[in-house]
Amino acid sequence: MNSNKNIKKNQVSITFDDGPNPEFTPLVLKLLKKYNAKATFFCIGQNIKRYPELVKDCIQQGHSIGNHTYSHSNYFGFLSTKKVISELQQTNTLTKKLIGVTMQFYRPAFGVTNPRIKRALKTTGLQSIGWSIRSLDTTSRSADKVLKRITKKISRGDIILLHDTSLKTIVVLEQLLLFLQQQNIESVTIDSLFKIKAHA
Ligand SMILES: [Zn+2]
Repeated sequence: MNSNKNIKKNQVSITFDDGPNPEFTPLVLKLLKKYNAKATFFCIGQNIKRYPELVKDCIQQGHSIGNHTYSHSNYFGFLSTKKVISELQQTNTLTKKLIGVTMQFYRPAFGVTNPRIKRALKTTGLQSIGWSIRSLDTTSRSADKVLKRITKKISRGDIILLHDTSLKTIVVLEQLLLFLQQQNIESVTIDSLFKIKAHA
């Protein structure tokens, strides 16, 4: 699901991919709390396995989580349907076991979609969640440029893609949260934005 311009309230969704990360996820959580914002974390299975407490922190603080594959393989777009299903199920199974939550959302690794991934989503029942603003925070662009790229076109219903994997993103996030506060725009979880369920 991509952004929906029919969203009535002045709301957007900030999303973080590729965590949880022991260095940066706690900093993200601290900022979100400071600005009373909610977000959605699309976690990589092998990171959930290593840092389950961080995922629990996210949920306890009112944020949502989603499946972002198990291995985040560079070859994800080339995997067989069977292998994709196994990546998604492995991540959901361990999250259920370690965190007690069944994730309903999937964020495509590298934004890749193909017929095999679509079949895997159908089999697993996961709902794909895209984005409408790609911040490019993992490129060599400066924090200032990344921030401008987001704020120059932001409007209600937007889904912003960030990564809780670098200090630059932390800098961008604080400026973004300040901007949203000034514009009276609220950041909410994906499930709250679209009135759907993130966890079962
Ligand atoms: Zn990713």
